[in-house]
Amino acid sequence: MINVTQSSMPPMEEYFDEIRDIWDSHWLTNMGVKHKTLQKELCRYLGVEKIDLLTNGHMALELSLQALHLPRGGEVLTTPFTFASTTHAIVRNGLEPVFVDVNPVDFTMDVSKIEPLITEKTCAIMPVHVYGNICDIEAIEAIAKKHNLKVIYDAAHTFGVRYKGQGIGTFGDVSCFSFHATKVFNSIEGGAACFRDDEFGLELYRLKNFGIRGPEVVDGVGANAKMNEFCAAMGLCNLRHVDEEIAKRKKVVERYNERLSGVKGLQLNPVQKDVTPNYAYYPVIFDETDFGASRDDVFAALGAQDIVARKYFYPLTNTFDCFHGKYDAGKTPVALTISHRVLTLPLYADLPLSDVDRICDIILNCKG
Ligand SMILES: *Cc1c(COP(=O)(O)O)cnc(C)c1O
Repeated sequence: MINVTQSSMPPMEEYFDEIRDIWDSHWLTNMGVKHKTLQKELCRYLGVEKIDLLTNGHMALELSLQALHLPRGGEVLTTPFTFASTTHAIVRNGLEPVFVDVNPVDFTMDVSKIEPLITEKTCAIMPVHVYGNICDIEAIEAIAKKHNLKVIYDAAHTFGVRYKGQGIGTFGDVSCFSFHATKVFNSIEGGAACFRDDEFGLELYRLKNFGIRGPEVVDGVGANAKMNEFCAAMGLCNLRHVDEEIAKRKKVVERYNERLSGVKGLQLNPVQKDVTPNYAYYPVIFDETDFGASRDDVFAALGAQDIVARKYFYPLTNTFDCFHGKYDAGKTPVALTISHRVLTLPLYADLPLSDVDRICDIILNCKG
């Protein structure tokens, strides 16, 4: 069986060495040594000035939105071509998601469609760097500045990505990463928010720790989203190997490209200008008319051989059952079409190239 992904893990002994001193300190959570060290190491690796660590990427998004003190009922421009987390973070803050379509080239927010959707209630933009592809950062920044909007990037897919040499976490008011087991870099579960403003950082810190300001002062209504020491230790170990993991992913991606580029009816993930990629995902868009088989046909053919590909992202978040009747996916037609045609293929550092070949053989065999 080949799964769509396989979590990166350090050598077992390395992790044991990393957690050994926790048995001396008995300090298991609440911003201990591992947490502080990982924070520092991540600032260096990601090229960001300030970062806070959280239990997961979702809490980074949800609490970052809360820490910005946006007006209740305010509208947040986002896209439906994302994981449930992005949209839920907005809704759970009492904010209203307004869905902007994506562009058909790199699947990020179509910046030409942002301004017509801005109203007097719009307070923020929450774009997603999908599959490791970065959004049109300059255009989004210009629009945000002109209309006085906050920008919160969902950077869950872009760990380690750089734009013009600059860490992707440095853009927007906040950029949120996920360190979930399935991501390019993991701390088992985990997440982080990168930001510049100290006031924001203090507010986020309090929100992840029950609103506690000091030993006898609780002046906020916070949640609990602290990263524990065992997760931070896993992060420290995985960080030592992440460059090597990305290099191995690159080899897998190059093999897929060799086999699948130029095939009629297949659209592959683009190479973006000025971007240092992280090879997070391998999405393929199947045009049934030109290719002769649909996404679902290919999904089934791979499944029959015990190969798990993923319809990622399908369904769109604006078609979720929990939002039944609330949004019209017809207003984001590009995202809707792509969600019906996209399949992300198995991709992880240790995926053998012979398996990549087998996967490609099965796909090309579906061709009409
Ligand atoms: C994984 C992911 C999240 C949520 O991160 P968790 O760490 O799983 O909570 C949010 N947005 C996107 C786009 C993701 O892929």
